[in-house]
Amino acid sequence: LIELAGVNKHFGELHVLQDIDLVVGRGEVVVVIGPSGSGKSTLCRAINRLETVESGRISIDGRPMPQEGRALAALRAEVGMVFQSFNLFAHRTVLDNVTLAQTKVRRRSRADAERRGLDLLDRVGLAALADRYPAQLSGGQQQRVAIARALAMDPKALLFDEPTSALDPETITEVLDVMRGLARDGMTMVVVTHEMGFARASADRVVFMADGRIVEDRPPEEFFAAPRSARARDFLAKIL
Ligand code: ATP
Ligand code: MG
Repeated sequence: LIELAGVNKHFGELHVLQDIDLVVGRGEVVVVIGPSGSGKSTLCRAINRLETVESGRISIDGRPMPQEGRALAALRAEVGMVFQSFNLFAHRTVLDNVTLAQTKVRRRSRADAERRGLDLLDRVGLAALADRYPAQLSGGQQQRVAIARALAMDPKALLFDEPTSALDPETITEVLDVMRGLARDGMTMVVVTHEMGFARASADRVVFMADGRIVEDRPPEEFFAAPRSARARDFLAKIL
C-alpha cells in the first residue's frame, strides 16, 4: 500500500534519509524506532509529502505521491497523520474537529459528517465530550480526538509520529488501547514510538533507523530476541 524506493533527502549537509526502501502492505503495522535524529519523523513526513525528497519514489496504492494541489490534498486524506502535539483546532469543539475536514475534503453533508464523527468519538471513548473544546480535555483525550479526526477521512493508512510522547504515563495506555484496536481491525499503520510493548504486541515488523538509514526491518519477535546490528543492540540496551 505504501512503497518507498531509493528515497534520499538532505537538510543542508545532513543526509537525513539515505536510500530508503520500505514497503508497507495493506493491513500491516510497521513500528519505526531509532535514536533521536535518525530520521524517523522525516520519513513519516516524506510519506505524506510534508517534506519533499530529492530522489526515489514514494507511492500510495500504486500511485506516485502527487507534488501539489488537489491531487495531493486527496492523497493526504487517504494517509492520515497523528502527531505528538495533537494539532487540534483550538477554537472548535471536539465534534467540529472531527467533522470539518469531512465536509470540506470529503464533501459530506453536515449531518452525515456529524453522524460519522460521533460514531468515531464513541469508538475512541469520547462521545460524551463532543461539545467540549480541546483545552478542556486531557492530553490523552485530545490525542484520541486527533485519531478520530484522522479516521473520519476513511484513510487507507495512518501515520503516527510519537503519539504518546507528550502524554502522562496514566493516559498513554488509553491512546495505545485505541491504536491496538485499530491494528487488530486491520488498519495499515506506520508508527514511530518508544512504546516497545506496543511494538511487541501489535507490530508486524519493526524498522530500526540510525543515521538516516534503515538498519533492520524484521518481525518484532526476531528483532527483540536478537538484534543483528550493534546500533540496535546499543539502542535497546538504553531504552529497555
Ligand atoms: P526524534 O526521535 O528526536 O524525534 P527523529 O528520528 O524523528 O528524531 P528527525 O526529526 O527526522 O529525527 O530529524 C532527523 C535529523 O534532521 C535531525 O538531525 C534534525 O535535526 C534534522 N532536521 C529535521 N528537520 C529539519 C529541518 N526542517 N531543517 C534542518 N534540519 C532538520
Ligand atoms: Mg521525531
